[in-house]
Amino acid sequence: MKQFDFGIIGFGIAGLSVAYALRKSEIFRGASICVISGGEGLPPPASHTPIALLNPATGREAKLVRDAAEVLPYTKHMLREIQDWAFGNTLNMNTMDLFEAPFFFETGVLRPAASPEMANAIKHRLETDPWPNDWASWLSSSEIADRFAGVYNAHGGLWISEGGFVNMTRFFEVARKWLEVEGVVVEDRVLGDGVHDIHDGHNLEQKTLGELTFRRLILTAGHGMTSLSLWQPDELGLHAVKGQILTLELSEAINLSCAVSMHGYLAPHVDGIQSSRSARKITIGSTFEHQFDSIQPNENGQRRLLEIAESILPGIGSNIIRTENWASIRVHRPPDRKPFVARQYSERGIWGLTGFGSKGLLLAPTAARRLVTELEEQDRATLS
Ligand SMILES: Cc1cc2nc3c(=O)[nH]c(=O)nc-3n(C[C@H](O)[C@H](O)[C@H](O)COP(=O)(O)OP(=O)(O)OC[C@H]3O[C@@H](n4cnc5c(N)ncnc54)[C@H](O)[C@@H]3O)c2cc1C
Repeated sequence: MKQFDFGIIGFGIAGLSVAYALRKSEIFRGASICVISGGEGLPPPASHTPIALLNPATGREAKLVRDAAEVLPYTKHMLREIQDWAFGNTLNMNTMDLFEAPFFFETGVLRPAASPEMANAIKHRLETDPWPNDWASWLSSSEIADRFAGVYNAHGGLWISEGGFVNMTRFFEVARKWLEVEGVVVEDRVLGDGVHDIHDGHNLEQKTLGELTFRRLILTAGHGMTSLSLWQPDELGLHAVKGQILTLELSEAINLSCAVSMHGYLAPHVDGIQSSRSARKITIGSTFEHQFDSIQPNENGQRRLLEIAESILPGIGSNIIRTENWASIRVHRPPDRKPFVARQYSERGIWGLTGFGSKGLLLAPTAARRLVTELEEQDRATLS
């Protein structure tokens, strides 16, 4: 029997963030942790997307996300810490390939307005939402043309200087190494029949999973939460949306020094970045299928993403030599779409953390930190 204080089911942004918050906790810093990362037979984790935007604005009007002043700096702090750690380790020959390029790009995000009405609505939001100083400003059409040549600029747009983008595939490769150096065990396995496998042992506080035993279990399985039979599907109330990603290899490098969000989003792909301004590969993403039969990328999705690319970078269609598709599923809980902690089994030491919708990178680290604070308080109360 291998015994752990914490088992975390899922190695997406939620699972990683829980492990990170536990390592940063005064009370749990020395706790033993095992992350069950999933594996063969499961769809790709939504978090392992080639590119994700770190964007505090949401929706058609670029509304400021709730608690943005807390969640954005905390996610950035986590990304910077792991990235700085990786670069500090480039002398280690075994990890050199992995760490040779950054994964976190603090470039800012441009949000062009698609129509005059949209421009007015976004400007109104900029004035009335509690945007922290210097995070965002309005750029006129000519200012966009000067600073971001080639990007759609007809109605001006919102410049979010605090935003950026992350190559999540690379981030998760590095984060796994970081966890292992931090003493966290990462196991590639799938909970076949969900947490039916998990039952209280002779000690009520223990949950067992094969040869692994945990004092507390935190389930962060993303879309996989819906098939873990601990909960009835209705109990979680999750709504799934399929999203697709398209990476384009270009015949000629283009100037693109930031991420862009309009109808979907677009950013330079890390393998195609030639200098701080020029890119040979770009990635476009959008989540739009509320009903789907298959989790595979498809032609319809590819067509839609090409349209988004063309709307953001007019004329890009004639510059494409190769495309690569990717798809996954994200979940949120209507109607308020807030991330949530499932506590139905918390008295048995089992929690769920999910429902990050289209903002997992932005929201999950803080949600995980809050959950860990709650667990700390519980332990303090038990001790006193
Ligand atoms: C195409 C697309 C683009 C997106 N773009 C952005 C973006 O730009 N910015 C942003 O902030 N968010 C974006 N999102 C949303 C973001 O990806 C999600 O909010 C976030 O990834 C959710 O993280 P998670 O950890 O909850 O779930 P996931 O990332 O899905 O991770 C779930 C984990 O659980 C594991 N798992 C599942 N079932 C089992 C099981 N039975 N046994 C063991 N393990 C299991 C999986 O293997 C995985 O490791 C995008 C989503 C998609 C689909």
